[in-house]
Amino acid sequence: MSPTASRSYIGRFAPSPTGPLHFGSLVAAVGSFLEARRHGGRWLVRMEDLDPPRVMPGAADAILRLLDACELHWDRPVIYQSARADAYHAALHGLRAQERVYPCGCSRREIADSGIAGLDGFVYPGTCRQGLKGDRRARALRLRVDGPFIAFDDGLQGPIVQDLVRDVGDFLLYRSERIFSYQLAAVVDDAAQGVTDVMRGADLLDSTPRQIYLQRLLGVPTPRYAHLPVAVDERGEKLSKQTLAAPVDLECPTPALFEALRFLGQAPNVDLRRGRPRDLWAWARENWDPMRVPRARSRGIKDLFF
Ligand code: GLU
Repeated sequence: MSPTASRSYIGRFAPSPTGPLHFGSLVAAVGSFLEARRHGGRWLVRMEDLDPPRVMPGAADAILRLLDACELHWDRPVIYQSARADAYHAALHGLRAQERVYPCGCSRREIADSGIAGLDGFVYPGTCRQGLKGDRRARALRLRVDGPFIAFDDGLQGPIVQDLVRDVGDFLLYRSERIFSYQLAAVVDDAAQGVTDVMRGADLLDSTPRQIYLQRLLGVPTPRYAHLPVAVDERGEKLSKQTLAAPVDLECPTPALFEALRFLGQAPNVDLRRGRPRDLWAWARENWDPMRVPRARSRGIKDLFF
């Protein structure tokens, strides 16, 4: 995590506009922004608005307005995944040419009944691997996963090893509602945006080996990864719209930014809590220290006072 090769550092923040930005996502925005700035690099924003039923109308604009109010300024035009189907199709085509893709006719229920609980839902039991049986209709496209364990060195969480075959299995690339999977889209876009460093919440740590696997198949570079602790409530649950995490106040975002810095192990002077975001960023320019970020997958927020 030392600031080498600064000029070529490209970081990013990739919110899903399924609701207003809450504290948990703000932490990922702040961490990735300050790391990009520390390296003298660029910080990009990408809207992960792939899944129409989950996207909330107006949320993407609201997130951008909030980032602006927080003076978290991005360095290139925002990319919208909803406009990138051609790029995802091209990647899918490349994987098909390698005979890595097969149609799957299984319902969620069938997979739950015959799959084994894995790291992220059920491990696909391989039912359609040899072809669709009888008059089954394809509901999705899956990636044929085989081969070695995936290992990488996370900048915050240390060495990670995953047995992709055992823990995840053949994963989805595309669903018949014309939705590309998060894994495929994230890999294609990180490569297209030239992202060198991904800093995001540790809830995505288990996805990273799938992304590295896809990068290898698609012949694109693997960025460095660092996964920040995820903000959890007293019950240990991730803050999300579902747990009704309060959205960050557009009119007065500094206290939330201040708490995000404290959540990330930093110790800004308490006066800064009442100031403008730019005063916090001026402080962070001198003081942001990634070595102080807690090396944990999650962290409670009850001791923070916003
Ligand atoms: N869109 C994802 C989220 O909001 C983040 C994806 C990523 O950073 O790769 O949780």
